[in-house]
Amino acid sequence: MDSQTHHAEVDARVYDFHTHTFLSDGVASPIEIIRRALHIGYRTMAITDHVGPGNLEFVLKTLIKECEMASRRWDILALPGVEITYVPKEDIDLLAREARRMGARVVNVHGETVVEPVEPGTNQAAVSSKNVDILAHPGLITPDEARTAAENGVFLEVSARRGHGLANGHVAKVAQEAGARTVLDSDAHAPDDLLTREFAMTVALGAGLSEEEAHVLLETGPRDLLAKIGVKQTR
Ligand SMILES: [Zn+2]
Ligand SMILES: [Zn+2]
Repeated sequence: MDSQTHHAEVDARVYDFHTHTFLSDGVASPIEIIRRALHIGYRTMAITDHVGPGNLEFVLKTLIKECEMASRRWDILALPGVEITYVPKEDIDLLAREARRMGARVVNVHGETVVEPVEPGTNQAAVSSKNVDILAHPGLITPDEARTAAENGVFLEVSARRGHGLANGHVAKVAQEAGARTVLDSDAHAPDDLLTREFAMTVALGAGLSEEEAHVLLETGPRDLLAKIGVKQTR
């Protein structure tokens, strides 16, 4: 492989730390969404179904088995995770800690998106928890919340999901000013929602980022997140 081909391949990389299966409100099984992601070029992804106190254990046990088998047989790293969703804000840290203890590699919290009545204070609870990796679609997040996210190493999400993505420009700007790190995720609920590199770049540019800032969002953010959660990166 010549260096130019190698460079193109590296540039085409897609990371995605927020996807759903029929274990919550997605349509595919975990193994199916992994296979479909692999087929369109993914090499690293997380499956993060909606959880509350009741289904946390079942969802994680299932995802851990399916992600392990797929990652062992196929050229993709599938990480089992959760999206703590509509849980009372006082219990978010507790559930995040439980999820981690049960083997979640990526712990997301369903943030205060502008299109749903998520409990006010959810963003603050998520960024205050050292057990949370990503505050998903944080909507009109405040500068104070973004600074707390930066201090605690909680990543803020730029969302490729319709509706949630309406606040992307705000999220990117506030995160940048606060020094909080960001990742871009699909929040896929069906195989067709999975990302291509081109669409991820379009969403990044649509959030008002420069080409260079978009590169940081699509490459540096994911690599920093993988380092934070202890995933060794070979290249
Ligand atoms: Zn969500
Ligand atoms: Zn989601």
